[in-house]
Parts: sequence; structure tokens; C-alpha cells
Amino acid sequence: MKPSHDIASGRLDATTIADQFCDLHPRLTDLQAQAESARCLFCHDAPCIEACPTEIDIPQFIRKIQSGNTTGAAVDILRQNIMGATCANACPVEELCEQQCVRNTAEDKPVTIGRLQRYATDHLLEKGMQPFTRAADSGLKVAVVGAGPAGLACAHRLSMHGHQVDVFEAKPKAGGLNEYGLAAYKMVDERAAKEVDFILELGGIEIHYEQQLGRDISLEKLRADYAAVFLGLGHNAVNRLGLDGEDVAGVINAVDYIERIRQEALSAIPVGRRVVVIGAGNTAIDIAVQMKKLGAEQVTMVYRRGPEQMGATWYEQELAQTNGVIIECWAQPAAVISDADGVTAMRFQRTKLNDEGRLDALDEHFEVPADMVFKAIGQHFDSALFSNDAGAEGLEFDGRRIAVDALGATAVPGVFAGGDCAPGDDLTVSAVAQGRDAAEAIHQYLTHQAQDSAVSVAKQEQAHG
Ligand code: SF4
Repeated sequence: MKPSHDIASGRLDATTIADQFCDLHPRLTDLQAQAESARCLFCHDAPCIEACPTEIDIPQFIRKIQSGNTTGAAVDILRQNIMGATCANACPVEELCEQQCVRNTAEDKPVTIGRLQRYATDHLLEKGMQPFTRAADSGLKVAVVGAGPAGLACAHRLSMHGHQVDVFEAKPKAGGLNEYGLAAYKMVDERAAKEVDFILELGGIEIHYEQQLGRDISLEKLRADYAAVFLGLGHNAVNRLGLDGEDVAGVINAVDYIERIRQEALSAIPVGRRVVVIGAGNTAIDIAVQMKKLGAEQVTMVYRRGPEQMGATWYEQELAQTNGVIIECWAQPAAVISDADGVTAMRFQRTKLNDEGRLDALDEHFEVPADMVFKAIGQHFDSALFSNDAGAEGLEFDGRRIAVDALGATAVPGVFAGGDCAPGDDLTVSAVAQGRDAAEAIHQYLTHQAQDSAVSVAKQEQAHG
């Protein structure tokens, strides 16, 4: 008989695990890239550009690949999106550019823009080329809090404008979600770390690791020491189920375990024989598929609504199913069943949409046996990290996020924000766009500040004679 808590590492041998975690989207060969780029119609009002949060000129870069100018293609991509190499792997292209591609019809299929983007950016990164340069030193210093996609994109653009940037990162590595929060099969070969190295190669950016706002640094001090501050804090808290027994052994936040999978040897990761995942976004898919790939016998994803309402894209849903994940819709968590050693099962309650479109809980329950239960029901920004920070006085909030204007400026002069801590859609590519655009706004702000202070000095000199 199997023990009641069947959790073990090394359920599969190392070779099988390595095979399971091979690159989800291997790079196109030269011949494939030529053939794929030839499928682009180079549309005049290209809808694919409109669908890209960073507004990469997609037909232009594809045309450059077609003409053999792969480096030029990569520069076009990276000028708009400095994290274009990881976005090529992590972007939900099936809901962005590729969905809007005019070739995405019942009779045809979209141009594989993401894979062409990867082909071009890999080419440039592997050549060790640095296409960007810094403007003359402005003599100004800007603080960026968070070395995730928003913070790094902001820091890179600020450095290009000649500003010195100090980045404060709570974790021991940079990259944010790319380094810690995505499934390992989406970011093979230290892809996220290589991209960070490429960004830092520009110069003018220094990252201070294990420096957390509210613990090691304060907004008050940053505002005193720097000409401007950008907050790219990401999500810093996970949603709870609100059930008794939620904290027993074996009930785990999916984001924490994904981080562990990314940072430790795959064969050393403990895996339950029977795994339940609660949630239906890409994080839920990432943990469910990885558990399956690490040898879990049964992985069941449970979601309270239907497949159409799932946060995960259709591509991700298919990925889960082809990897053997069972997806159970229309059921919500009702109780954690446990014994002295931890979780043994999850009890669910059936749900149904009522005539007003709201979710009703039905008088129908079922249990799914589990050695491990992963909570993947969302994350949020918790503003408690500002609770003893006089520098945050005046900051305004939009729900649980820091309120910003269209340029990324908060209600506090000189403080900007972007990425998941600010309003938006939580996509990495959107965080990059917000960080980049906030850097432009910060540059304008600093330029005006410098002009204003030059005018005031001139007036004082006139007044004194
Ligand atoms: Fe090319 Fe499709 Fe974009 Fe048209 S919509 S430019 S075919 S990638």
C-alpha cells in the first residue's frame, strides 16, 4: 500500500527529466526562418503591430530577416523591447500579435512572429553585439526599485539618456518573473540571466541585490538621495483560499514552488504522486505541467468557472492537456482535508452560472486525493511595505495598485511606477513597455527640473546685480 503522503524527488531518472524540460519552442533553423519570413504579407497597417504592447514594427523586422539582415531585425526588436529575447518565449503571442495576423484564418495559420523574434534576438545575443550606446553623462542619478521586466526596461532607457541608475532588487538575482516565475521549459539555458547581462553591458546601471523596500531601503531615503525614483515592485503577495487548514503541510503557493523549480536541480525537487492545482491562469498551468514532467502520476487542475473564462490562453490549456493534466471546471475549493502529516485531499463544491451571470455554489461536493495542493489563484500588490515610510505620503492607489498617469507618474512628484504594481494587464511585455515609457517621462521630468533650476539661478544672479 502507498503511504498517505507520497512525496518524493527523482520520480523520473535524470535523462528523462532533461528530455521533459527541453526547450518548448526550439529556435528556427536558417532555412525555417527564411521560409517563415516569406509568409509575411508585410501589411501596410499591420494589425500585429497594434496588438504588441511594445509596438515592435513586426513587418519591418521580418523583412530584414527575409533579406538576410538578422542583426538589423534584432536591433529593431530590442529598440522597442529591450527584453525581446525572453518575450519571444514568454509572450502569449496566440492572444497578441499572432492572433491579429491577417493570415490567422480557418484556411491558413498566422506567421509565427514569436519564433522569428527569437531567431533574430538569439542571433544578436550570441554574437555578443551591443547595439546601444549611452548619451553623455547627465550627472543625475535615478533609483529604480525592482529588477524585473519593468525596472530593467526603465533602467536601460534611463542609462541610454545618460543618467546613472541604481537598481534595488529584493532577490539575489535580477530578471523578476523571467528568472523566478515562469516554467523552466520556457526559459532554458539561463536565458533570463543572459538577457540581464546584455542589458547591463550598456553600462551606467548598478544593481544592489537583496535590498527590499520597507526592510532595507525606504522611499523617503531614495527620494532624498536620487533625482527621481521608479517603482517596479511587481506583485508582492499571493491570494489566499480563505479556508481552514490552508497552511497545513503540502498546501503550497504555486509561485513559490515555481521559483524553487527554477533555482534548484530538477531531480531534487519533491513531487507528489497525486497533485491538485487550484486556479486557471498561466501560473496554474506552469506548475501543473511541471509537476507532470517531474513524474507526478495524477495532476488535477480545478477551476470554478468554465474553459472560456480561464486566464490561461488556449495554447496553455492545450499544453496542459497534452501533458496529461486533468482540467476540472465548474468547481470551487470547499475544504482542505488533512491528517497530522499534512494535506490528504481537497474537497470541492460544484458551481454553475445563474441567469444573472453570477456563480452559484451547488449542493454537490466531491474530493480529489492529493499529496500536494498548489494555490494559483492570483497575486496582488500589498502596499503594507510603505506603512512606515514617510516618503510614500501622498501616494495614491487604484484598488490594490499604485495609481499612475498615462506617463507612469504617481501622485508624488519625481516618483514613477510601472509593471504589476501599477494598473495594467500583468503581461511581461506590458511591464517592459511601462518601464520604457516611464523612463522617457522621467527623462523629460529631469530635463524640465534642470531647465527650471537654470532659470532660477539666472534670476537670482540678475537680482544680485
Ligand atoms: Fe506579416 Fe501577419 Fe503582421 Fe501582416 S499581420 S505584417 S502578415 S505578421
